Amino acid sequence: MSRSHKSLPRLYVEAPLAAGLQVDLGREQTNYLLTVLRMAAGEALVVFNGRDGAWIARIADAHRKGARLAVEVQVQHQTPRSDLWFGFAPLKTGRLDYLVQKATEMGAGVIQPVITRYTQVSRLRPDKLLANVVEAAEQCEVLSVPALAPEIELAQLMAGWRHTQGLRRLIFCDEAAPRHSPVSILGDLEGLPIGILVGPEGGFSESERNLLIQQDFVVPISLGPRILRADTAAVAALAVVQAIIGDWR
Ligand code: SAH
Repeated sequence: MSRSHKSLPRLYVEAPLAAGLQVDLGREQTNYLLTVLRMAAGEALVVFNGRDGAWIARIADAHRKGARLAVEVQVQHQTPRSDLWFGFAPLKTGRLDYLVQKATEMGAGVIQPVITRYTQVSRLRPDKLLANVVEAAEQCEVLSVPALAPEIELAQLMAGWRHTQGLRRLIFCDEAAPRHSPVSILGDLEGLPIGILVGPEGGFSESERNLLIQQDFVVPISLGPRILRADTAAVAALAVVQAIIGDWR
């Protein structure tokens, strides 16, 4: 994509994208463009929908109740969604929003809330989580919005893993793991589909740790000699995986 499009706002839409099509925006996105960004009719932005790549679109009708976009030209071909699975034990709201945004920026393709013994959050707000994921996707210029999976209990996840995830290995960020560098452990997973699991602020219970390490698809790693907060651990784990066997290479 030429640099000139880099400076344009990016908007995720559900509608199909092709030259000459029109996209009618809802109130929230209309408000974002016309009031927050103070855009006017005739101005351009980049739109993507996770299927048709990224397109330049222009505001054809700046109606306050619902703007209409005219799709003009494709500036990026669609790339496949990341295959990286990221599971985490939900945290309290503020940190939870941060966590799903960082997972999106760091290239997770599936974001899976996992309920564990010490998970502090009772009821998740999927609509709010999705809004954070979409916002992060727009900002970091990915072309696919990660899939936000419905929450699942850890034991259920383990029981169904082989059936639903096939050969995927689950990298278990274990604060009690022996303090070896994860580099060689991760290097051995080259070419395999990967999942990453991070626990809650209270960590995993002993029985959960035993359940995890007895699975043949689970690969425990240490994230160094310090105990990281769950959201720090998430970014650290995603960085080390992306750098060694992921899409940073
Ligand atoms: N219960 C722990 C803190 C858990 S930190 C305690 O208070 O001591 C939350 C999660 O971050 C952990 O469950 C683990 O998944 C991850 N984590 C934190 N520090 C880590 C480390 N040094 N190595 C591996 N994982 C870590």
